[in-house]
Amino acid sequence: MAHFTTPQLTRRTFVGGLAAGLLAPGIVQAQLPTNPDVVVIGAGAAGLAATRELMGRGLEVVMIEADGRIGGRAHTDMTTFDVPYDVGAHWLHNGSSNPFNSYGRDNGFTIYPAKDEWRYFDKNNNEVSEDAGDAIWDDLDDMYRAIGRAADGGRDISAADATSSVSGPWAATAAFNLGPWSMAKDLSNFSTADWWNTPDAGPDWFCTEGFGTLVAHYGAGIPVSLNTKATKIDWSGEGVTVETSQGTISARAVIVTVSTGVLAAGDIEFTPALPDNKQQSFSDISMGTYNHIALQFSQDVFEMGNDGYLLYQVADDGKAFGTLTNAGGHGLAYCDVGGSWADELERQSVEARIDYALSKLRDLLGSDIDRSFVKGDATSWGQNPLTRGSYASAEPGAYRMRSVLRNSVGDRIFFAGEACHPSQWATVAGAHLSGQSVASNVAREL
Ligand SMILES: Cc1cc2nc3c(=O)[nH]c(=O)nc-3n(C[C@H](O)[C@H](O)[C@H](O)COP(=O)(O)OP(=O)(O)OC[C@H]3O[C@@H](n4cnc5c(N)ncnc54)[C@H](O)[C@@H]3O)c2cc1C
Repeated sequence: MAHFTTPQLTRRTFVGGLAAGLLAPGIVQAQLPTNPDVVVIGAGAAGLAATRELMGRGLEVVMIEADGRIGGRAHTDMTTFDVPYDVGAHWLHNGSSNPFNSYGRDNGFTIYPAKDEWRYFDKNNNEVSEDAGDAIWDDLDDMYRAIGRAADGGRDISAADATSSVSGPWAATAAFNLGPWSMAKDLSNFSTADWWNTPDAGPDWFCTEGFGTLVAHYGAGIPVSLNTKATKIDWSGEGVTVETSQGTISARAVIVTVSTGVLAAGDIEFTPALPDNKQQSFSDISMGTYNHIALQFSQDVFEMGNDGYLLYQVADDGKAFGTLTNAGGHGLAYCDVGGSWADELERQSVEARIDYALSKLRDLLGSDIDRSFVKGDATSWGQNPLTRGSYASAEPGAYRMRSVLRNSVGDRIFFAGEACHPSQWATVAGAHLSGQSVASNVAREL
């Protein structure tokens, strides 16, 4: 997620690090005990924090993960470009208070605040001055105010309906910034009340070695059973029985940390079925799609040093990308797309997506950039069966379902993960804090 703004932030405050060298120590592959106290499903930020917390409280835990690695949506790929490439989360939101900031600094990572440097281009691909670019932020401020008025007035409507009066040449660019580039959704698909009730604020930070490397370092040493997919949770008797691709585990409780996309798709069957409103919460707190089209350049073609931002005037169809340039000084540009345009692009080949982003940059910066272009890649989180999207937010009118999503069922099925954090949803920090807090509740109850 790139530009995640909250009502308390005025403007240009960004969410949103890389470098080789600090690789996580080896993963501890757990044997599947048949009778632990707790099963934790998923080894992303939430599952790792929950497992660590439960183990620290002396409980026997087994964490299972369908994938062959830990980290979930926070993962740094070190092979595609030979430099750290965050295929999921990259920005340490609310950086100064983000738990991974102090964890990273204590463990030798390079963590630093994001800077606020921009280049803006108009519809004719001409660069405009920073003053002209201010029009975007003025429109964005108007949109924040419109959303606030709707939410404070008790109208949980779509952000599109709330902001329809904001018009002007840069309104579509502001809408892109607020919707696809931040929320992974078009304005029509998320709730004003959900967005407004997000009290956290603070500038973003980066980790040079990659946010995914940081999460993997945190998770190293926490036992996990990889390539172990949960297929069914039976809570008809005492405790729970979790059926997995590697066998069945009985426990006193389970903490489910998979995305709402996975839950809404019914990839894990519950017996008996969960209450109707609980099931409804999975689709009401729905996944948006946010993807990186990563382009590697051998030189700083953006001429902003490390971690600048390039934004161009968005057409009314909203089909655009926003760019984090020369991330961490490693020569990678993250050309990020979100919402319905990201879904549409996922149906195109990776090569076509690279070509789309490169051609637009060529229009803006000139064809000389081709001489420095090395190669590209594109992520497809919407089609990933282990996430079914990038991160979640409430559908218009569905803000109240956030708390339903967080509720436990039968005192033995607990839910944690980014979408369950009351204020820092959609973030790694939120997932981590949710995992910790749910685990401490579980430990108290058992
Ligand atoms: C492209 C992108 C960019 C993002 N940008 C940022 C950012 O800059 N900053 C930020 O803070 N956040 C960002 N986010 C969001 C952030 O990555 C997530 O909020 C966070 O990582 C979610 O952690 P989690 O533990 O809740 O879920 P996950 O990381 O999804 O963990 C759940 C785990 O469950 C596993 N699983 C799924 N099904 C099963 C099953 N049946 N059995 C067993 N295991 C299963 C999955 O493989 C996964 O590892 C971004 C996400 C994406 C995709």
